[in-house]
Amino acid sequence: MTEQVRVRFAPSPTGRLHIGGARTAIFNWAFARAMGGTFILRIEDTDPERSTEENVQVILNAMKWLGLDWDEGPEVGGEAGPYFQMQRMSTYAAALEKLKERGAVYPCFCSKEELDAKREAAGESYAGYDRTCRDLDPAEAQRRIDAGEPHTWRLKVPLDRGAIEFDDAVYGHVSFPADVMDDMILVRTDGSPTYNFAVVCDDANMGITHVIRGDDHLSNTPRQILIYEALGAKTPTFAHLSMILGPDGKKLSKRHGATSVEEYRDRGFLPDAMVNFLALLGWSLDGETTIMSRETICSEFSLDRITKKDAIFDETKLSWMNGQYIQKMGAAEWVRLSEPWLARAHAEGYPYVHTAVVPTPDPNAPAEEEAVEPLNEEQWAAFADELNANPAFYEGLYPLVAERETSLAEAEAKLAYMFWGPCVLLDEKSVNKVLRKEGARADEAIAACREVLADEANPWEAAVLEEKCRALAEPLDMKLKNLLQPLRVAICGNMVSPPLFESIELLRREDVLARIDATVAEVF
Ligand code: GLU
Repeated sequence: MTEQVRVRFAPSPTGRLHIGGARTAIFNWAFARAMGGTFILRIEDTDPERSTEENVQVILNAMKWLGLDWDEGPEVGGEAGPYFQMQRMSTYAAALEKLKERGAVYPCFCSKEELDAKREAAGESYAGYDRTCRDLDPAEAQRRIDAGEPHTWRLKVPLDRGAIEFDDAVYGHVSFPADVMDDMILVRTDGSPTYNFAVVCDDANMGITHVIRGDDHLSNTPRQILIYEALGAKTPTFAHLSMILGPDGKKLSKRHGATSVEEYRDRGFLPDAMVNFLALLGWSLDGETTIMSRETICSEFSLDRITKKDAIFDETKLSWMNGQYIQKMGAAEWVRLSEPWLARAHAEGYPYVHTAVVPTPDPNAPAEEEAVEPLNEEQWAAFADELNANPAFYEGLYPLVAERETSLAEAEAKLAYMFWGPCVLLDEKSVNKVLRKEGARADEAIAACREVLADEANPWEAAVLEEKCRALAEPLDMKLKNLLQPLRVAICGNMVSPPLFESIELLRREDVLARIDATVAEVF
């Protein structure tokens, strides 16, 4: 019988869920699903200074947002709990007792000052703890413990152990010389477990079969193997994931874009796109397929298709992928997920603005980092009312941007003009290039099109209105561009807006005419 796969994602709640952590979580989750195994979430909160309850929530929320459901862990429980290390202290104490019984540990009374002095004296040639306390007479050691002398507990690394070797599912055969392993501390003077000890106790007690984690833990692995052996526990299979680098080959950092899952969510990225993209940071289905559903990832994931080559985090590719998901998602879903940005566009638009020419934003200006003011309750309520009253309008916005959006957040700026009611914010550059263009007869073009739009006999449909307006080019002896661009600017405020007639159809006739009149009054 093959063993039941049990894997875990073990974040330390010292910050947000970062891209690297999310990738590790996805690999564990997908592997568990592919193997019909169990995915466990364990919170490693033993660093009291940096671990916070708030960070735990942020991580859980990010996991939920990504759709990485865990079978055991916080909120869902499970037989191997508790799933917070701080609640598992008694298990580490029990493991220490077991190691004492097996003669695998010894108390060390060397003070920090003594150890530091030895390290300093040895300089470059320091080879780890010199095992001063290893051969203390047990009765003497017990007497000192009973007398309350501060002590740590160290692992008694077998002196004949030889090299520590293991087969990493990604890195292949790995061998560490035994003599670099000093008798590491497992339990500190205050009784708390060290990181390596806690991780091994938990992985052993939780029956973890595969440890899939970042390769920053590769160098901890030989130490952990020694602890498994001392406990007489079965060593799991290890799979260490390569580093994630930016496109410039440097370690991923803020320079390359956002670093936490939360930031990507707030910038309008979709969970499906994120999971798809992150799954491919070091794993591939067949070396070719880029777009794949979570079902495919979950059924096809395997450790042997993980590469040890560094993975490159390319935000341009992520944006492209996000765009692919936006195109596929359909209008209703798009509206649901775009609500934060549509609500902003709604709040900033109708009926609060007046027609005016506004400066064109400088595309090279550094992005403003200042936090955006959240909408207040009233603004949300007004948006919700309108959304309920007019769902067709909102769903109609989707085809205006679906083909071109690479993030849901773009809706706020790209669709702002749809919320201006009878007013227009005229982009200065568009006004100068299109409306005030010498000899282009923009005013004539607008006046002619206005007649078509004002004619109640014309049904308010994009195709009809477009055909009738286009037909004016010939009698006016005008290029189509000179005929329709002015109309676009007059209604949408910009020469690069989404499709014009589809936009017009979604707006009310009286607003469209009011916008045209306001533009004419402002510009000509
Ligand atoms: N808590 C560790 C970290 O955040 C993970 C330990 C492990 O996966 O073994 O890096």
